Amino acid sequence: MMASYFDDHDVADVAMGSGSRPGSAGEQAGAAANQLAEFFALLGSSSDDASIRARTVTLLAELAQLAGTHVNLAETLSNPPAAESAIAELPRLAPAELRVVAPAETCPVCTCELAQQDCLKMPCAHLFHAECLMAWLHRHNSCPCCRRELRTDDIQYENKKRERARQQAAKAMYDSMYN
Ligand SMILES: [Zn+2]
Ligand SMILES: [Zn+2]
Repeated sequence: MMASYFDDHDVADVAMGSGSRPGSAGEQAGAAANQLAEFFALLGSSSDDASIRARTVTLLAELAQLAGTHVNLAETLSNPPAAESAIAELPRLAPAELRVVAPAETCPVCTCELAQQDCLKMPCAHLFHAECLMAWLHRHNSCPCCRRELRTDDIQYENKKRERARQQAAKAMYDSMYN
């Protein structure tokens, strides 16, 4: 059922929230809809084949990209929250230190200056305001910038992740032997 999928994964508030970030899935979907409308108008007019073909190629490339974005978004949003113990282990930096190590850098979540408040550093080295990052990690376990994951308390999810890593390792071994 679509409704419960969206409820479970908070898709609506991220994709269509009022605070949409530039290039969010919601905005991209809007852009694609405009492209489609333009395309159908073009088909209805007496444009030559070449320009229709060119528009089709562009449109298909854009739709493929959009589909990829939705897959990534759905994947990220289906991740469980990070384990409290994993959040507690993240190094904390105070404003004085931030002014030295990351002067003028901004928090990717709220886009305000990092040195305004205490920050947390993810294992990938991405920095966020402690408050901004904790709000996110209490819902999903991956870095908002690069999707590097923190561990979770979700045993089923952890088992699935281990199985996926095992399969990837087996495939890498196979590829190195036979390719
Ligand atoms: Zn922030
Ligand atoms: Zn990161």
